Amino acid sequence: MTNKQTAIKVIKCLQRSGFQALLAGGCVRDMLLGRRAKDYDVATDAQPQDVIRLFKRTLKVGAKFGVVIVLIEGRRVEVATFRTETGYADGRHPGSVEFTTAAEDAGRRDFTINGMFYNPLEKQVIDYVDGQADLKSRIVRTIGKPSERFGEDYLRMLRAVRFSTQLDFEIESSTWSAVCRNAKKIAKISGERIAMELEGILVHPNRVAGASMLIESGLVNVIFPGFAGEQAKSAIAVLGQLRSKVDFALALACFFAGCETEFAVRSCRILKLSRNRNKHIKFLLVNRSKLLDKQMSLADLKKLLAQPYFWDLYELQRAIQKASGHGRKSIAPLINLRRRIKALGDVDLQPEPLLNGHDLIRLGAVPGPALGQLAEEMYIAQLEGTLHTAEQAGKWAKKWLQKHSNHL
Ligand code: ATP
Ligand code: MG
Repeated sequence: MTNKQTAIKVIKCLQRSGFQALLAGGCVRDMLLGRRAKDYDVATDAQPQDVIRLFKRTLKVGAKFGVVIVLIEGRRVEVATFRTETGYADGRHPGSVEFTTAAEDAGRRDFTINGMFYNPLEKQVIDYVDGQADLKSRIVRTIGKPSERFGEDYLRMLRAVRFSTQLDFEIESSTWSAVCRNAKKIAKISGERIAMELEGILVHPNRVAGASMLIESGLVNVIFPGFAGEQAKSAIAVLGQLRSKVDFALALACFFAGCETEFAVRSCRILKLSRNRNKHIKFLLVNRSKLLDKQMSLADLKKLLAQPYFWDLYELQRAIQKASGHGRKSIAPLINLRRRIKALGDVDLQPEPLLNGHDLIRLGAVPGPALGQLAEEMYIAQLEGTLHTAEQAGKWAKKWLQKHSNHL
């Protein structure tokens, strides 16, 4: 069974028990657009305890707010009781929720295109917010007064930009003005939540449009204080040269391509990304321009190639070069680099060292920093192709020790 079929099964069961139950929100929008939905959410007038009673396996994580997860045949369906949310004091969380009707539930949703329901058994769209008209005109518009709706939840400003980017819809003009007017308040939203929306915007092939909106609205300057005009120009130019499918780390590195590495790394910290992601981005930013060095030694090339994100670094550099506006000439160093890489064939990029620490001590090296230096230099010689066997390495190490004897 697909996610959709599972959700419909849940709806059938609720309707048979006398409740109103409908598909709601994003999945209705995507179905009407002929797009595959990410998840199929169910909205109902059944109370959470009714839902828990009706289905064998449920998770009550959000029952207080009217959300119950129904588990069927290895799938999860989110079933939410129609609700209104009131008393947003902090621009982030509703103060309380009250169970209510479908029409009022539609009214608490963010955008008209996200505010529709669908009854899959009667194949009927239930639209209290004129979502179908905006879907037809390809418009992102808040339900109700934009400033009020953004004032309840500042994250909605970024969501507007994300939906506009992902769907290639215009943001309706009073909605857009309200985003620009309220942009400063995005600072109140946690880095993690900002990062999720930013990821949706920057990994999408339409990322240039999204980044432009982030810049024009002023959201970017609030999220990353100090991100200035030249850097913004560079972000747009580099993102515009990026291949269509990329992950968030590469897209962010392109976004910060015109910034000092230290500023970019500090800015990424605001997003509270995972350690791996931070490492990934830092690797890309720190190693920018290394790939342009025609004199790069074979050992350095092998070390860089052995890094898990090497090809992302290559893609970042390719986008930077193409964005420079110097035509084919700008990517000549990269074409040269590819030739070097091809010529390496399937050589082992991280071979075992020909001699280990114990071997070197047996040859007379003294444990300590000098031993580390000897091992490193010997490994470089191995990567360079100067040393092939343990015997050669032994001779080489002895010479090294003699040469350095008065320093040891
Ligand atoms: P996606 O396809 O990206 O998941 P979605 O529309 O399903 O988009 P979700 O974040 O999954 O978006 O939320 C599901 C629905 O809940 C939305 O369609 C919208 O109706 C409502 N919603 C979500 N977040 C908010 C919010 N911050 N303010 C108001 N309504 C919201
Ligand atoms: Mg969704």
